[in-house]
This record gives sequence, structure tokens and C-alpha cells, in this order.
Amino acid sequence: MKTRLTDDPAEAAALIRRGKLVAFPTETVYGLGADAWDVKAVAALFNAKGRPRDNPLIVHIAALRQLDAVAVCISEWARALMEHFFPGSLTVVVRRRAPLPTIVTAGLDTVAVRMPSLAVTRAFLRACACPVAAPSANRSGRPSATTWQAVQNDLGGRIDAILRGEPCAKGIESTVVDCSAGMPRLLRAGATSIEALRMVVPGLRTAATAHDVAAAGDTAARSPGMRHRHYAPDARVVLVNDPSEVEPHGDHAYIGLSKPAEPADFGQCYVAGSAQDYARVLFDFFRRCESAGIRTIYCQVITERGIGRAVMDRLRRAATRA
Ligand code: AMP
Ligand code: MG
Repeated sequence: MKTRLTDDPAEAAALIRRGKLVAFPTETVYGLGADAWDVKAVAALFNAKGRPRDNPLIVHIAALRQLDAVAVCISEWARALMEHFFPGSLTVVVRRRAPLPTIVTAGLDTVAVRMPSLAVTRAFLRACACPVAAPSANRSGRPSATTWQAVQNDLGGRIDAILRGEPCAKGIESTVVDCSAGMPRLLRAGATSIEALRMVVPGLRTAATAHDVAAAGDTAARSPGMRHRHYAPDARVVLVNDPSEVEPHGDHAYIGLSKPAEPADFGQCYVAGSAQDYARVLFDFFRRCESAGIRTIYCQVITERGIGRAVMDRLRRAATRA
């Protein structure tokens, strides 16, 4: 299959309406979209990514009026979070409305919903005029794609089109919050910080309590995607507290907030100006290291505050070669 490149959201949307698979930019990472009502297209999407069928997809909408078609029993907490953070980098899990194909939600009775904020994404989703089921636009298990070129490298020849946009401004995936039962609970740290969420939901839970596990299973069961190996480049990822812990031996790279004494010792070296900057470049850095034949990527650990929490979550997963 030839993957078409386009800069026109209307052209990309027309392909979605014809049952095609189209990657598109968002402020977080690139998504790979299919019409959420089209079971065949969604099945093809799982195949193109090599994504396990038990890992549900996020349903992307352009406007809140599309919500009722895919969800029911939306709690006050869910409404409050949507009011404050939509459009934006928050995904809210609510109860699924029955006609939504179960392949989208991997058989769960809940559905994850997000309304991205990037202007071109909104134009694309408006023109689709259907909810768009979209996981991140990378081969399953790989770092998310934050540029259209990364999408092309991973999925070129396997998907119908790529809507080209700028490199993603946030560079890390959306925050996922379960609002399907009781007090909202964090399922995946992401581009919207917990501190910001707690301004709206002060009681937001971040870890499964014994009661949750007994009532509904743990986070792995509630958010099946978190079970799978994720975010890993081909190179080995090693976490360090300080760049001085790295012993230069060629074939290696470093990314962190602190500057190494001898940056020239690193083939690839990125000193981030802030935690936001670290998040923005991380996946692209992983991919650049791969292309450069780097074998070991040293990543400095950072404080788990704000977006630092999501960065540390991704680093730990990338470092796990399960
Ligand atoms: P991705 O878009 O590839 O980054 O993955 C979407 C994330 O959202 C995965 O971690 C999924 O497990 C999670 N997710 C999607 N739908 C649901 C749902 N109904 N309940 C819980 N988590 C979900
Ligand atoms: Mg993903």
C-alpha cells in the first residue's frame, strides 16, 4: 500500500469517511485514526500497528455534542474535567454507549474520550464528522511518533495517509483519568499534570487502593494498555541520577536536565531546558539515537512533579525490556 502524504485536513477526513487509516498530528503525539463506527477499519488499524486486541483505543471528538453518541451516565466529575480540560491533553474514561463497536474499547464497558486542542486536528475531526478511534501512530511497543517523518518510518506502507503537521508541541501522550465509577482515578500520567487536575478534582486518586482492587481490579485491568511493553527504542535505556554516572564508551547517548562535564563524549547529547522540554524531545531523541546506531541511551531521572511524572513513567517503561 502506498501511504499518501497530505497537508489538507479535509482530504484526510474524506479518507477516514471512506474507511481508510489516516495518521494525524495533535498537540501530544501523532494519532492513527479510523472511523470509530467502522469495525473493519478499526480492525485494520489494530493490524497496521500490531497492537494487541485487548488494548482499547481513545475516541477523539471535535465537539462535546459528539459525546452522547459514544458514552452514557457521564458523572459530574467527568463533566467538570471535560469543561476545564477539553480541548486539551486529557483523556476521560466514561461508560460506553452500546452501539459503539466493542472492538474500539477492547470489550470494556467503558470508553476513553479526548478532544485535542491543535487547530489542524480540530479541523480534521470536524470534517470527519464521526468519532475517530485513534491510538498513538507508532508500531506497537515503540516510542510514540512526534513528527510525521517518525510516523512514516514506523507505519509507511501500512496505512493509507499521513496528515502532515508540525512536530508535536508537548511530545508526550495525554493523561488518562477513569471517571467511570466514583472518585476519578489516574490511569496514565501524561501531558496534563495531576496538580492541574486536582484544582478541579481535589480528591483525584493516583493509585489503586485495596478497595479499588477488590471492586474493579487494579490499574492494569482497568487500563489494559499499561500492561504491555511500551515506549521502547531498539537501544538499551539506562536511568541515571547524574550524568557523571555515565562512563563514556562510544555507541552511547545522554539526555537530561544536567549538562555533562564533557558533552563532546556523547555521540548524541540533549540537555533539556525544563521538564516540558525533556518531555517534548524524549521520543524524538530515542528515534534519532536509533538512526545513529546508538546502543545505550542514558536518561537522567527528574522530579516527579508536573509533567515530570509522565516523563518518569515513560522512562521507566522504556528501560524495562520485558
Ligand atoms: P495510546 O493511544 O496508544 O497511547 O493508548 C491509549 C491508552 O488509553 C492506553 O493506555 C489504553 O489502555 C487507555 N484506554 C483506552 N480506552 C480505555 C478504557 N476504556 N479504559 C481504560 N483505559 C483506556
Ligand atoms: Mg501508544
